[in-house]
Amino acid sequence: MLRSTKFFKRVQVERPNRQSVVTPTDQLVDNVHELAQTILAPAIQQRSKNAVTVDRISVRYYQQIATGRLCSCFKKEYDNPEMHCPVCFGGGRVGGYNVFGTSLTVVDATYPSLTTLNVTMNDEVWPWSFELVEGSLEGYVEAIIDVPSLLDVDVIKLYRTGNYIKVTVRKQSELCWHTLSRSSLLSLAASKEKLVIRVTLSRKCTEDVTPSFTHLYLRYKLITVELYVDMPRPGELRNADNFDLTGLQTTQAFFPATLPRSKVGDIFKDLRNEYFWRITEVTVNNPLGILTSWDVNVRAVESFEIFAQLP
Ligand SMILES: [Zn+2]
Repeated sequence: MLRSTKFFKRVQVERPNRQSVVTPTDQLVDNVHELAQTILAPAIQQRSKNAVTVDRISVRYYQQIATGRLCSCFKKEYDNPEMHCPVCFGGGRVGGYNVFGTSLTVVDATYPSLTTLNVTMNDEVWPWSFELVEGSLEGYVEAIIDVPSLLDVDVIKLYRTGNYIKVTVRKQSELCWHTLSRSSLLSLAASKEKLVIRVTLSRKCTEDVTPSFTHLYLRYKLITVELYVDMPRPGELRNADNFDLTGLQTTQAFFPATLPRSKVGDIFKDLRNEYFWRITEVTVNNPLGILTSWDVNVRAVESFEIFAQLP
């Protein structure tokens, strides 16, 4: 039977202001959480940074590029990039890796809005390469690039074969060409204008083998960042436990929160001995949502692997 509400007297209950009532339980639950979030976790974050700085190994960190232009080495029939491709380093995306603190421009066969004269794209090699058209003594490829606000030019590298290739640069608004170099790029980039890059190929007679190139790799340093890792020293690594089933040397490493992102497939280079390490497993430490450090498993990159060629 349903009870009628008229039999119940409505009583106004004075609710205590929860904010003003202090109980031991509140202290333990609320304050500890707040203390941990505002003081403890940031302290762990800072201590991790400090600890790594004491016994520091300076590294360059390469974050694998997951989106962007599909490399010309990508073979649709196999749904796979070429594992030894110097454009994407086997990852399928142009550039392959972004070095932490830098920005990258790669002028290759997939670069948008290229202008060419007497130059053709050879699509029977992977990655595709630029070559002189038959019967031509000279030709060029031009690309328009946007250079970001940079601190310095980090890398300029043309992947080429043959001797008669030169690279020049000019502001889009001017017609005066300069040889591409760190200093010319720095001074032209200061104008904040778009720049035109021209790669000129030439040969002395038409019977000569054509010079060719696959891509121009330009890397700009955007921020000054010192990144350190904590990992065993080379002398400490040489025991049987540090090799996996395939015979690759493996170990563990620890990055402080200076590094904002770490993923399986990323690579870092020990700047003291130039060794490359590839990350095979990542554990992020972020108590209460505050990033404090990264624990990673890594394996040594062998000298025959394309990653060992990363600029
Ligand atoms: Zn590729």
